[in-house]
Amino acid sequence: MTQPAEPAPRGPLGLDPRLWEILVCPCPAHGDLLPDEANSTLTCTVCGSVFGVEDGIPVMLLADA
Ligand SMILES: [Zn+2]
Repeated sequence: MTQPAEPAPRGPLGLDPRLWEILVCPCPAHGDLLPDEANSTLTCTVCGSVFGVEDGIPVMLLADA
C-alpha cells in the first residue's frame, strides 16, 4: 500500500496534532487551551493561565504566585 508524500499535519503553533488533541491546562479544571499564533502562547479558557510554546513544545507550568 502506497501513499502520496504529504507534509505532516501540524496543530496550532507547530504542535504535534496528536499532542494538541489531548493537551489541556494543568489547572484543576483542565481547561481548553486557546492558541495565540502571534505570541506563540496558549491561554487557558478557564483559569486564564498563559503557557509558552518553544520549538513546538508547550511549557505547561502553572505560575504559582
Ligand atoms: Zn487552566
